[in-house]
Amino acid sequence: MILDNALRLQYLEAMGIDVWLPRASEHSEQPPPAEVATDDAKTEITASTTDNWDVLQAEVSNCTKCALCATRTQTVFGSGNKHADWMLVGEAPGQHEDEQGLPFVGNAGLLLTEMLRAIGLNREEVFITNILKCRPPNNRDPHADEVESCNNYLQRQQKLIQPKIILAVGRIAAQTLLKTDAPLAKLRGKVHTFNNTPVVVVYHPAYLLRSLSEKRKAWLDLQLAIQTVKEIEKG
Ligand code: URA
Repeated sequence: MILDNALRLQYLEAMGIDVWLPRASEHSEQPPPAEVATDDAKTEITASTTDNWDVLQAEVSNCTKCALCATRTQTVFGSGNKHADWMLVGEAPGQHEDEQGLPFVGNAGLLLTEMLRAIGLNREEVFITNILKCRPPNNRDPHADEVESCNNYLQRQQKLIQPKIILAVGRIAAQTLLKTDAPLAKLRGKVHTFNNTPVVVVYHPAYLLRSLSEKRKAWLDLQLAIQTVKEIEKG
């Protein structure tokens, strides 16, 4: 079903989701000067040169490397454009994602879609995935062994996509990708790198749904990401 725009806004508002609309004044607002972090969270990628999407997707759906395989409904590989400039990495599937096999399809996903729309992107042109490909029971934080088991899949996705930028969506994704315990407040507002790809940290939409006062900072994070991509494109 395709909702017309007015109905879509009503629907989102009724669910308490603040709708993101690009505003000319906000678009022209520059984020604070980007601080470039010098840490590159490099990890060896063990993918062979013959790696491809079919092989990787089949490995993920049959994965039994950690205990989450016993409690998942299905794996959530990721979705979107496999040649995307933008790769978004969240934490782990929740209940709706586990049921549908797609990332970010619950309320947080609706807000994430709106955040992308606000910067002129739609879900089909970016690639969205998570640190973990399986839902942790009761949405608890990922355990270290689960992150370790999934690490190779994420790295192979990055290698196949070769995005211009990675958005680390939320604290867990940021800390895992950047191999740090630093709080999100310290990680946002800087350009980090992961295997030589720039990483910008953004607030998790589930957090923004609870703390809409942070929306302005989230907007600045997105502006920093756009500015970073523009600089890469300028060469
Ligand atoms: N939260 C995440 O981090 N990922 C999802 O896919 C859904 C909710």
